[in-house]
Amino acid sequence: MGLALAAARTSAADPPPPPAASIPNAAALERLSARLAPVELTADVTSLPASERAALVPLVEASKLMDGLYLRQVWAGNPTLLLDLQADKTPLGRARLRAFIQNKGPWLRLDKDQPFLPGIGAKPAAANFYPAGATKAEVEAWLRGLPSASRADAEGFFTTIRRTPAGALGAVPYSVEYQGELELAADLLRAAARATAQPTLRAFLEARAAAFSSNNYYDSDVAWMKLDASVEPTIGPYEVYEDGWFSAKAAFEAYVTIRDDAETAKLGKIAGALQDIEDNLPIDPKLRNPKLGGMAPIRVVNVIFSAGDGNRAVQAAAFNLPNDERIAKQIGTKRTLLKNVQEAKFKHVLSPIARIALAPADRNQVSFDAFFTHILMHELMHGLGPHQSTARDGKTTTVRAALQDAYGPLEEAKADIAGLFALQRLIDKGLLAPSLERAVYTTFLASGFRSLRFGGGAHATGMALQMNTLLDAGGFTVARDGSFTVVAAKIKDAVRALTAEIMTVQATGDRAKAMEMVGARAKLRPEVAAVLAKVGKSKVPVDIEPRFPTADKLLAASARGR
Ligand code: ZN
Repeated sequence: MGLALAAARTSAADPPPPPAASIPNAAALERLSARLAPVELTADVTSLPASERAALVPLVEASKLMDGLYLRQVWAGNPTLLLDLQADKTPLGRARLRAFIQNKGPWLRLDKDQPFLPGIGAKPAAANFYPAGATKAEVEAWLRGLPSASRADAEGFFTTIRRTPAGALGAVPYSVEYQGELELAADLLRAAARATAQPTLRAFLEARAAAFSSNNYYDSDVAWMKLDASVEPTIGPYEVYEDGWFSAKAAFEAYVTIRDDAETAKLGKIAGALQDIEDNLPIDPKLRNPKLGGMAPIRVVNVIFSAGDGNRAVQAAAFNLPNDERIAKQIGTKRTLLKNVQEAKFKHVLSPIARIALAPADRNQVSFDAFFTHILMHELMHGLGPHQSTARDGKTTTVRAALQDAYGPLEEAKADIAGLFALQRLIDKGLLAPSLERAVYTTFLASGFRSLRFGGGAHATGMALQMNTLLDAGGFTVARDGSFTVVAAKIKDAVRALTAEIMTVQATGDRAKAMEMVGARAKLRPEVAAVLAKVGKSKVPVDIEPRFPTADKLLAASARGR
């Protein structure tokens, strides 16, 4: 296998490749890849009208193009390397191909982007968004010198920065940089638009096809916000994580999804009870919001195909889009929960963790229904509770500004713990089945260990705070064998107390207290660390590696009909 190209310099600023001895052999690489468990993601499309099943075919085909675009965005050497790997039929070659496809490039995303092939340098932080050989300082200086209109373009989501033949820097719109692929994708989106009988879906597909040529995504983002259809596609340039220099350039991704009508109905029922939950929050009545504003829309969907940035290493279980601040301000954003992805994570990651972490009686209570309903509730609870902080001197500001770096972990902890409080209230009021009660707390406990495995970050820190506080309050206990149990007699009061404490800190903007909560009080306890070590030793997968049989079948049937 020729890796000459791979050995080529990626950028002047990048460090040299690691020594060959650290490159994994076939068995070691397979073990690393096995951390992502292969899972079939499916949805029922048989109940859809023929028009919508017909629309799905070009939609999946357009989405496949996002894979190719994303590979190019990550690194210019990717397409050639992929062909090399496909030609290598040895066990090592097969292992390398699987790892390449999981990671969309020759770097292990679960291991701080360690290269897994010989001769490969460090993953370029600039990805393929900036000129080969350029430095961040050079691009920064050039950006600073631009007049404001062209600077906005050059710093925007939808341009790459390239070097002209004369050596100057310039911004190239995605519609030019990726013209070939985007025109193919636009044609397929228009074919899907012709097939569907749903007006809001047709409007989005036509607007997005136009955006691929015009490079103006605004109208199509608005049309995406207005989507009200059984088929919910998300396709185009969205998240900016791949741009390690400025978090500015959007990576291509696609999710082809089918709306989950049963969960959507449940969501409506829960959304109708939110004001009652707010009116009964365990905080000073003065801090409650007497009239909740409109909530950001939430969709529950099942994925039948994902691609590009939407299908690499750890899979997103939900997303909140669009990122265009103008739309976020004018119309808001939409949260999309990927139910079958959550199901797969529950089955392949959470359930095995529960078997290790929980006492036998608690283990049997863990359920997907409780897991998913709590995730829904978590998302909704971000909208409840205090959003303004009023300090003792009467000064008012946003909670985010008042708590600064403590804001993220505390807000995530709030959404979790207030979510438990809210579920309890819905159960008490008969809106949710009483059988859910035990399951809600035990599933939350098991899920806590799953979140803690990801190390730092707002979710893990917020979870550590909750775990420690609930242990101290006696809501959770640890048996002599190290297994964890929910104490039914104490958990409800413990949840109320922590909900009250967090929301009061947010309302008063008490940053010192907040820092203590997400600092000293969020340190991993030895009994918690012991469970995490056991989970690690038991080879519980970290996440899933999706397969898409529903999409495969739709494409195969359509090919036969041609
Ligand atoms: Zn959250």
